[in-house]
Amino acid sequence: MFVVLLGPPGAGKGTQAQRMVVETGLLHLSTGDMFRENVKNNTELGLLAMTFMDKGELVPDEVTINMILDRISRQDAASGAMFDGFPRNLIQARALDDALDDRGNAISHALLISVPDEELILRLSGRWLCRECGAVYHEKNDPPEKVGVCDSCSSDLYQRDDDQADVVRSRLKTMKPPSDLINHYKDSGLLSEFDGTRGLDEVTADLLGVLQL
Ligand code: AMP
Repeated sequence: MFVVLLGPPGAGKGTQAQRMVVETGLLHLSTGDMFRENVKNNTELGLLAMTFMDKGELVPDEVTINMILDRISRQDAASGAMFDGFPRNLIQARALDDALDDRGNAISHALLISVPDEELILRLSGRWLCRECGAVYHEKNDPPEKVGVCDSCSSDLYQRDDDQADVVRSRLKTMKPPSDLINHYKDSGLLSEFDGTRGLDEVTADLLGVLQL
């Protein structure tokens, strides 16, 4: 099963993906996490990606596509994956379709989580992440028990540079799934849309329902 998770930044893709991989056993592939890992490790790819991420822009398609295709060529992605933050445009979607098609696979579901802009700005500018385990908190909606400390693993929490309010606005413009991408999956009958303003559990249950789990 190959699933793509679509939605603007702050819609809850990462959180829902983490929950769904626990239930489905699917491999979670987040291009944002992969870039951040490269930035942390000071790789050449990380240094390049950072120049785009800091400005709230997309990393060039060629770079992103090469990274994800390289990743899915590994054995642990042979029978399925959940893509989170990829594809972000039609070029990326077609590259993924072609790569899967070459090995006799295909996307089985495209899950779109929708949330209005005003809500996204509130959510993103209060978001805190764990450096170690990637757990996500919100200073108002879902605070950790102790400020700045992860409930799960006690590591430090941090705010992403691209979650600062001014960057958030420009990110929303560039990072929303474009209509041709949404139509690509709609036309293939793969798209299901979810109201991401509801409670986390409700959204997770609906997403899993579509995956028939
Ligand atoms: P995310 O964690 O998904 O919000 O991604 C963080 C940043 O990584 C984005 O703002 C982009 O700069 C970059 N990025 C993540 N996924 C992609 C993608 N599919 N295409 C291009 N850039 C991406």
